[in-house]
Amino acid sequence: MYEHILVRYGDLTLKGKNRHLFIKKVNELIKAKVTSLDVSLDIRHDRVYIDLKDTPKETVIQCLNRVSGLYSYSLISKCPIDLDKIAEIATQMILDKTQGQPTSFKVETKRADKNYPLTSQQVSPIIAGKILRQMTNLTVDVHQPDLTLNVEIRDDGAYLFIDQIKGMGGFPVGIGGKAVLMLSGGIDSPVAGYLAMKQGIEIECIHFESTPMTSIESVQKTIDLVEKMALFAPDNKIKLHLVPFEQIHSTINIHVTDPYLITILRRMMYRVAERIMIQSKSLAIINGESIGQVASQTLESMQCVNDVTKALVIRPLATYDKHDIMKIARDIETMDISTRPFEDCCTVYLPQNPAIRPQIRFADAFETNFDYKKLIEEAVLHTKTITVDAYNHTDILGKGLTVEESLS
Ligand code: ATP
Ligand code: MG
Repeated sequence: MYEHILVRYGDLTLKGKNRHLFIKKVNELIKAKVTSLDVSLDIRHDRVYIDLKDTPKETVIQCLNRVSGLYSYSLISKCPIDLDKIAEIATQMILDKTQGQPTSFKVETKRADKNYPLTSQQVSPIIAGKILRQMTNLTVDVHQPDLTLNVEIRDDGAYLFIDQIKGMGGFPVGIGGKAVLMLSGGIDSPVAGYLAMKQGIEIECIHFESTPMTSIESVQKTIDLVEKMALFAPDNKIKLHLVPFEQIHSTINIHVTDPYLITILRRMMYRVAERIMIQSKSLAIINGESIGQVASQTLESMQCVNDVTKALVIRPLATYDKHDIMKIARDIETMDISTRPFEDCCTVYLPQNPAIRPQIRFADAFETNFDYKKLIEEAVLHTKTITVDAYNHTDILGKGLTVEESLS
């Protein structure tokens, strides 16, 4: 019944040049997402028509749901501009939707082809009358109908649709510049990355890996998470920087006492993240911190950790409830990967009594116990960068004993 999809863009409050760029970016994203499908795109100035050809609509919809900046779309039935034909197809569409249940409806007509002899106001009641003659379950309500049949009269035919399905919304990824995402193997950070992309920010990921202290599976888990996130990225690819962190981790374990372990570890992460941010020409650091979730995420902790960098740090989940985060993680299919049972560097050697209100002066003092600058230099120098492709699996398990060996 439906052979086209009509796509509408997102934030149309944008004007002029910005609007032009916005639409260009959304179109690039749509093209990248449907690239492997046998569909054709007809790009107009304020919308896109997708001809489904023989591709199932569900497959195309799944791809469209990964386009940030896409506001809504509708399944469309196209037919010749003939009022009897329009009414016949519309009747089928409404029957399919209402299954014969009592329903109020109205017809709304838009006449894009001004050469068509009847006005919109004339067309709507004629079509409604023809439909009513076929269907006894319908009544007309022009103010608050249960269902609206939209008819667009265009030069190449009539386009019919009922529902407007909500897309991702937000801004096309890339339009807001680039940032680095601190990506652990947990539930939160992939969600933070997704929300940043939804808001138009392109991301590169940084993972601090402590192999052999932690298992190589924990790195594979991170790669798998990036693969899922890459479904939303331009070209379906995201860079992942794997930072060897074992040296820093074990040095901190020797020189820092229990309550400040996590604080100092996180300060080191921020320092390295800042370096990679600059190297990759990114504008901010993004992470999955959420206020109050664990001891390291009190305002005092965040302040003490944030003190080591001048970088702009964005925490999309700062005020999110864990349930809401988990719901998004399920929607973007990262939940099952995040809950795989492998430790990352924050879950091994968990301190017994982490400082809930760490103080900057104590953290500074602990860091005079060892030459952290050299360690950071080394970690940045030996960082391995890979490009993770949503449609081409990267497997590092079984290829070698270390992360470095498996990636070289
Ligand atoms: P998540 O579920 O994302 O792991 P969390 O609740 O476990 O978050 P923490 O472990 O305290 O929280 O980490 C807070 C944030 O710090 C993470 O969301 C992530 O952005 C960053 N982070 C923690 N560990 C790492 C790591 N090994 N590599 C990169 N980033 C990390
Ligand atoms: Mg974590």
